[in-house]
Amino acid sequence: MSEEQHKSALKVQAGVDQPSAVNPRFARGKRKGLQLEPAPWYLEGIRKGNRSVLSRAITLIESSLPAHRKLAQEIIELCLPFSGHSFRIGITGVPGVGKSTFIEAFGSHVTQELDKKLAVLAIDPSSQRTKGSILGDKTRMEKLTNDKNAFIRPSPSAGSLGGVAQKTRESIILCEAAGYEVILVETVGVGQSETAVHGMVDFFLLLMLAGAGDELQGIKRGIMEMADAILINKADGDNKNRAELARRQYANALHLFPPTESGWIPKTQTCSAYTGDGIPQVWEIMDEYINNTSISGYFEHKRQEQKNYILQASIEMNLKQNFAQNKEVQNLMKEIEVSIQKDEISAYKGADKLMETYFKNIDFGKR
Ligand code: GDP
Repeated sequence: MSEEQHKSALKVQAGVDQPSAVNPRFARGKRKGLQLEPAPWYLEGIRKGNRSVLSRAITLIESSLPAHRKLAQEIIELCLPFSGHSFRIGITGVPGVGKSTFIEAFGSHVTQELDKKLAVLAIDPSSQRTKGSILGDKTRMEKLTNDKNAFIRPSPSAGSLGGVAQKTRESIILCEAAGYEVILVETVGVGQSETAVHGMVDFFLLLMLAGAGDELQGIKRGIMEMADAILINKADGDNKNRAELARRQYANALHLFPPTESGWIPKTQTCSAYTGDGIPQVWEIMDEYINNTSISGYFEHKRQEQKNYILQASIEMNLKQNFAQNKEVQNLMKEIEVSIQKDEISAYKGADKLMETYFKNIDFGKR
């Protein structure tokens, strides 16, 4: 302390800790955007059904910071024994078909009439570009947003489809541990994300419109083949008869598809997300599916298959990441690319060389 300061009455006494006006943990958390607690703290909150703790844990899952990812993995491990007890539904259809309106109507039926807890997640790998086109706008599902039995989470916006899908799969585990009995995963019906969603749900729902050709609706045959039920939405007003006609056409088309592994013949149904017509029947179809496939053993079989798939996909993703982060590989990559372009070596040989370098310099610390 300087002479000058000594003379002043406005000095801070040495040795006395001045309490901060703001809880330092809070301040730290705010700066980083997320306050970190030990994993069991999250488990406790999640198990108690605390939605804000669940949200924070999902934010950790979605984070790319290594410390967040590590903590997220610990939370997932703790939640795993409490997971698996939900009915997981995938839902797709082109933008405008009425997905969010349908989710609002169907979701309210689930939470109110059936008194079940419902979580709505989404997969939209493009949402970084479109600034969250899907579930990003909370006003889209106002009723569910204010429903204490419902939890709505927009799509994680970062990264590749594989990365986004993994985050959603992990979020499902947390939602199940929080006691959500029905999980809806929404996806836009325009790309690869349907396959990813199909791989993580028990039941896959395709929303369609009457009067628009399949090409117009941008739905590929492959997506129709994945569907366990096709719903013709907007079956109200003048559109009712056309919707019924379309339903029959889809039912006929589905009969021409090869039999499904489950033995389940996909159902068709008209509904109106506006009036609520046909909405209870959608749940009845699902109930029938659960009963049939539980008796046949397919329900459990499919879940086991999905776990095996996740195992393989995770190995692939981790290996690729580890490979891409390897310094020696990075250094050699450019050189090899140039040699391949100049036809000095083949692409196969180039890959061999890179693999050789990788295996000689594996860094097991990086994941
Ligand atoms: P999404 O893009 O698939 O999520 O579709 P939205 O739920 O945002 O719906 C697109 C438009 O269709 C909106 O203007 C809705 O009001 C309307 N819509 C949705 N469901 C129905 C329905 O059952 N009947 C009618 N007539 N319109 C609907």
